[in-house]
Amino acid sequence: MTSRDALPALRPVDTSGDGGRTVMIDPAEVARLSGHVRDLIDALGLDRSDPNLERTHERVAEMYLEMFHGLKEGAEPEVTTFPNDEHYSHMVMEKDIPFYSMCSHHFVPFYGNAHIAYIPEDRIIGLSKFSRILEFYAKRPQLQERLTEQVVNFLEEKLSPRGAMVVIEARHLCVEMRGVKKPGALTVTSAIRGAFHQRPVREEFLDLLRRS
Ligand SMILES: [Zn+2]
Repeated sequence: MTSRDALPALRPVDTSGDGGRTVMIDPAEVARLSGHVRDLIDALGLDRSDPNLERTHERVAEMYLEMFHGLKEGAEPEVTTFPNDEHYSHMVMEKDIPFYSMCSHHFVPFYGNAHIAYIPEDRIIGLSKFSRILEFYAKRPQLQERLTEQVVNFLEEKLSPRGAMVVIEARHLCVEMRGVKKPGALTVTSAIRGAFHQRPVREEFLDLLRRS
């Protein structure tokens, strides 16, 4: 048994991977969750006296709290929008934004890249916000289809753009490690709004995507 005293103190965890965003992991939450993980380890018949398993329930609990941080109240990124003073009316695109998420069905990771674009109307946002928005929705038990829709909906709500499009390409470990076992298979999802329903606009998006 581990006493509360042995648990790590409240500590910052960088959830963005780029040093840009930290969250605090609460030891009380780690203690509550780790008890359940310990039960799972016991139910699997594993020997927790093995030094490699001794603190695994605490590490797993901490890890889940970090990976599901997007569910926390206040986790939604502050997105400041700016007036489109230049009347920029072309596509703004950020491509190859890496992300990591957890499949809702199996609690194993799916990960890959997102490509996000919009055509402004009256408002624009800073480019760094794309990855923050993506991360917020990725840090929770998730489905790739839903993640794609949530990102495009967020842009639509905050910016009311002329159009927006999100494409996500991801590998799902639940597909690669188990079941049908298809290593390297890529799942691609897309969501479009507004002007991106027009074929030439979509083609411009895909053309920008192909360029290295
Ligand atoms: Zn899955």
